[in-house]
Amino acid sequence: MLESKRRNEIRNKAGNIIKASDRYHFIHATYACQLMIKEIVSQHYKEECRKLSQKIREKTKNGNEISEELMEEYNHLMIMAKEGRAHIDIDYIETSSEEEARVIKINNAFVINLPKSLAQRVTNEDGTFNKSAVSKIRNLMAHELGHIVLHTDELLKIEGLQGSIGITETDKEEEAGFFANEILQMRDERNRVLHSEVFDDKT
Ligand SMILES: [Zn+2]
Repeated sequence: MLESKRRNEIRNKAGNIIKASDRYHFIHATYACQLMIKEIVSQHYKEECRKLSQKIREKTKNGNEISEELMEEYNHLMIMAKEGRAHIDIDYIETSSEEEARVIKINNAFVINLPKSLAQRVTNEDGTFNKSAVSKIRNLMAHELGHIVLHTDELLKIEGLQGSIGITETDKEEEAGFFANEILQMRDERNRVLHSEVFDDKT
């Protein structure tokens, strides 16, 4: 039997985790997307590897020396191609508006940038949920996940902090928006079924 002091410590820790986790909505889909794009990411790095090895071959053929940096880059690409690492992370940043979100590529990970002001408004002062802030976060997350799974190749090539904001074609914006609506509706439907059929049956 745990001592009450220890139980309180554990309860506090759990409470703090619940509080902090309220900033991260729709994270289950993020993990699913990570797996889904693994193959595309791996193919991308295989192709990069092939291009670089061709460059190295040509340099050697012409009697040029291969720099250490080039070899390092090649080894790095080889590892990326093998692992097909497609880590997706979330970061809350200062933005000029609460509609502003993007996916940027940092060191071979996709980072979804969301407005910090939204994260700060997830719970009201009385501890209740701010449904509009939660819904905005879910929408922005779903939209950016849409870019990640639908426009993976393009995002892999985008460098710098502009990220998915650099995807300007109207079609692609529409695609991400459509994806967001679809996936949010499906998730809501799934939650309704789960809560009404599974949880209620057991109580
Ligand atoms: Zn977009």
